[in-house]
Amino acid sequence: MNPENYYEVIAADLDRFATVPDEVLWEIVTLDGRCLWLVPADETPEWDEEELTDRELAARLCAECPARRACLELELRVAGADSVGVWGGLSDEDRRALYPVWRARRGRMGGPSS
Ligand code: SF4
Repeated sequence: MNPENYYEVIAADLDRFATVPDEVLWEIVTLDGRCLWLVPADETPEWDEEELTDRELAARLCAECPARRACLELELRVAGADSVGVWGGLSDEDRRALYPVWRARRGRMGGPSS
């Protein structure tokens, strides 16, 4: 899959959230987000000592997260192209590349694009 198709496939998968209010997305992420319950607040993750790229961290942290797509949708709405860090299973570099593709799809759907 070339990079353009990669981002188009992810953006298409997010279409199902187009009409979901922000508050509902927040609730999904805070209730089910793996990073919010995987490691207790007073402990450090076992991979804390490892040198991981953001893509590696995203793959490790978010891969099994049941809220991954909701998290990604929310981050695209809230932070847009200014997104920083690992959210929704993607590095900020990947989300910045995804953002215009996602926004263009929302524009074509006639819904809010940010
Ligand atoms: S997708 Fe990743 S960053 Fe988002 S809630 Fe899940 S584990 Fe946390």
